[in-house]
Amino acid sequence: MGGKVYLVGAGPGDYRLITLKGLKCIKRADVILYDRLINPKLLKYAKDTAEIIYVGKAPNAHSYSQEEISQLILEKALKGNVVTRLKGGDPFVFGRGGEEALLLRENDVKFEIVPGITSAISVPAYAGIPVTHRNISSSFHIITGHEDPLKEDSSLNFESLAKLRGTLIFLMGIKNIKNICNSLIKYGQESNRPVAVIRRGTTAEQEMLKGTLETIAKKVEEVNFKNPAIIIVGEVTSLADTLSWFDKKPLFSRRILVTRTRTQASKLSERIEDLGGEAVEFPTIKIIESDDHGNIDEAMAQIEKYQWIIFTSVNGVKFFFHRMKKAGFDIRLLKDAKLCAIGPATAKELESRGFIVDYIPREYRAEAIIEELRGKVRPGDNILLPRADIARRILEDELAKLGANVDNIHIYKTIIPDYEREKLINLFKDRKIDMITFTSSSTVSNFYKILGEKNLHLLKDIRIAVIGPITAQTAKDLGMVPDIEAKEYTIDGLVDAILEYY
Ligand code: SAH
Repeated sequence: MGGKVYLVGAGPGDYRLITLKGLKCIKRADVILYDRLINPKLLKYAKDTAEIIYVGKAPNAHSYSQEEISQLILEKALKGNVVTRLKGGDPFVFGRGGEEALLLRENDVKFEIVPGITSAISVPAYAGIPVTHRNISSSFHIITGHEDPLKEDSSLNFESLAKLRGTLIFLMGIKNIKNICNSLIKYGQESNRPVAVIRRGTTAEQEMLKGTLETIAKKVEEVNFKNPAIIIVGEVTSLADTLSWFDKKPLFSRRILVTRTRTQASKLSERIEDLGGEAVEFPTIKIIESDDHGNIDEAMAQIEKYQWIIFTSVNGVKFFFHRMKKAGFDIRLLKDAKLCAIGPATAKELESRGFIVDYIPREYRAEAIIEELRGKVRPGDNILLPRADIARRILEDELAKLGANVDNIHIYKTIIPDYEREKLINLFKDRKIDMITFTSSSTVSNFYKILGEKNLHLLKDIRIAVIGPITAQTAKDLGMVPDIEAKEYTIDGLVDAILEYY
């Protein structure tokens, strides 16, 4: 049985520019082959069991030739796999997707093409350049810049190209920019025709240089402007002065490390990205079901006796109900218990399960909560606290002082996930990070353990942002003094503080 191949365009860099269909192909693939220009964030959507193969060029590593890649796709498909071949931009725009499809057809392997957003149009768009514009440009032309126009056997005819008044877009042309511009001038284009070059468009590293056919090559050389970059020749490039928008976003070009769990990172990452920054995810904690079975089962068995259940985190809620279900207890047993949720996100998690939360403290620190609960909790009340194994004891101790009977159950555990210390170190060495965010004390202490004390000096020029005073204290104790502390101890509060800082 043959498999099936999807040749998928993954878009120009911003991973959110993939199509719904492309994303589906990533999710269903048994094997994924991807190129250098693919945003690795897309691979997060792959199945855990998917085989993921990098076929791009990398320094000191075997790089695959086009023939080898095509063969590999074929081979994987013939074994019956669903294969998703991820290509930058659109697979048929200078992507050699046609060659891969031809080999599949020859071997009777089924395939589908999923077009993508090509860099040729989207990179200008992110820089505020419309490739066509009424009265300015009524066509655009996408041209390979890979060939040196001065070569005898060049397949490009610059004499004809130079007659085009529309927007000329050269891909892969940085190396040949001088000859490209000179050839256009030679065959009649004005030497002051405006040109823009944009590298790593749609990403946090987007950069643009502007000039004219006469001046741009020198500018590119002076700043050593590197690939991947596109060259846009035409009057529309002037519109960037008024229409540029992406580089105006408040967190544009900032790379911010997110240390939360893989599953919890998305909210913070999304907010950073919506504001134009790049969220670099490096989880320093992982949350798993607790093995404290005895206590949990005992509490569940007499769940009706509690006057209060105090949830201190979203995870507490999730694991508590997961456990109830697993143990075969109906949530209607909770009808008499008052529910307290610490923090708006915890309350929201309960509400999404159909509960109306009885009490949300105004402040989220244990010390302040106790003050607020005084008068609400009566002596003799039974209180259940489903929390993490590492939670601070202060809440239960203080509740006990109010005369309550407190059952603290460790409903989940936090551990350090599998990690690669080298990868973390390299993020700092390559200057790939501007700021680190910590959303709990355990993210701080685990980060410290993973990085290693002797590497702390790498954080010298890196900003540190924390969610609240307790996390701040943990960071200080470990020699990482925070630059930014959220006023409201939530993810939104943290993002607001970061925005204010920048
Ligand atoms: N199939 C791709 C193009 C592959 S050729 C597409 O449709 O976009 C590779 C060339 O694309 C690079 O040399 C560069 O010219 C251009 N390119 C791709 N991504 C880019 C980006 N984010 N910013 C600028 N140029 C990019």
